[in-house]
Amino acid sequence: MSDSDLQAFRAETRAWLEANCPPEMRQPVKDEDDIYWGGRNATFKNDAQKAWFDACVEKGYTVPAWPKEYGGAGLTPAQAKVLREEMAAIKARPPLSSFGIWMLGPALLHFGTEGQKQRFLNEIARGEIRWCQGYSEPGSGSDLVSLQTYGEDKGDHWVVNGQKVWTSYADKADWIFCLVRTDKDNKYQGITFMLYDMASEGVATKPILLISGNSPFCETFFSDVKVPKENLVGEEGQGWTIGKRLLQHERTNISGGGRLASMMGRSLGEIAKRYGKTDADGELADKVLRDKIADFEIRWNSFLLTARRAVEESKAQGGVSEISSVLKKLGTKLSQERSELLIEIRGLQGLGWEGDEFTDGELEAVRGWLFGKATTIYGGSTEIQNNIIAKRVLGMLDHQ
Ligand SMILES: Cc1cc2nc3c(=O)[nH]c(=O)nc-3n(C[C@H](O)[C@H](O)[C@H](O)COP(=O)(O)OP(=O)(O)OC[C@H]3O[C@@H](n4cnc5c(N)ncnc54)[C@H](O)[C@@H]3O)c2cc1C
Repeated sequence: MSDSDLQAFRAETRAWLEANCPPEMRQPVKDEDDIYWGGRNATFKNDAQKAWFDACVEKGYTVPAWPKEYGGAGLTPAQAKVLREEMAAIKARPPLSSFGIWMLGPALLHFGTEGQKQRFLNEIARGEIRWCQGYSEPGSGSDLVSLQTYGEDKGDHWVVNGQKVWTSYADKADWIFCLVRTDKDNKYQGITFMLYDMASEGVATKPILLISGNSPFCETFFSDVKVPKENLVGEEGQGWTIGKRLLQHERTNISGGGRLASMMGRSLGEIAKRYGKTDADGELADKVLRDKIADFEIRWNSFLLTARRAVEESKAQGGVSEISSVLKKLGTKLSQERSELLIEIRGLQGLGWEGDEFTDGELEAVRGWLFGKATTIYGGSTEIQNNIIAKRVLGMLDHQ
């Protein structure tokens, strides 16, 4: 696509966003219900949220880079980047947040059958099904390949028994993408990637309450759950390969490509000026804090540019890669630093737990700080990313 075509696309996109993104959807996310997750039981917070979601579904903008036949807009990477930039410029909220978009969809595009793509990708794009991720088990988190949930072969279906843990939003999800052992004698090639309905008989969830006051994840139990073989993704025993590929998409997203970037779009300097004294030039008077903020913003913006370059390079080479581990390690560390700085900037006002006066349009400082601790754990902890970087990026050890 030529530069002038891209400029024309930018102008069209800007006009479309102006006409279709309601002012209420150009505000930072303040509460959990400002985020639309879709699913069978989803409700919209208000008319603006619904109007924005409907317009995006019709245009294919919930998943702009997916092919049109699967609910996307079929945008080229360059067009998708223009759309992201134009949405960021007006601070448009994502119309739909979804593990289907961030994780399962990209894996299905690669490994799914045509029938699975037609069905599940379109459902994801239209926000009809909310997905959860069934990977971790008690005793199998970092050492995921040791997972024990077992699917017994019954011909045309498996009977699944076992337990998952830390399953985000399992109690709200409609379907699960799940790693299940189907061969007890084969560690890596004995795992199968399956999809099943959370309403299936034998599935139970128990929410786990966190220190931040929320309960975003669950223990998930499977007791003789019947899973039809047509819900197999890829080949039987290929689950470890598919599961790892999906994790690369998850890590790229956690590192700053998705929600984090929209939460972090606000300048710390601007926030600091609201809380601290300014000098005659209108600059923050506290020079030490000013230095800290400048140092952080330089590193954060360098990271974003590096992340953008790495993601573009990976796409040009056919998708995500082990670089996702580098991005996840750095992006989550920086997001934690930012939370620390936000608390420091606000002083006593940073101790709020609830209420607009403490939010600055983001997660409340203390809750955000507490939740931030999880980012260096989920999607594979920082130590595990270090291991992957050592083995697969730096080639320091033999690896599976
Ligand atoms: C907010 C949140 C949401 C989550 N959502 C989901 C979800 O939706 N679905 C899902 O399946 N899971 C989910 N998880 C689970 C997450 O993937 C695991 O917590 C993570 O993989 C770590 O596993 P673990 O908790 O069992 O810790 P462990 O594996 O027990 O690790 C404990 C500590 O030991 C370190 N460690 C372990 N092995 C090594 C090693 N080989 N080398 C160096 N250090 C090591 C780890 O880095 C960590 O610091 C979520 C977790 C969180 C916090």
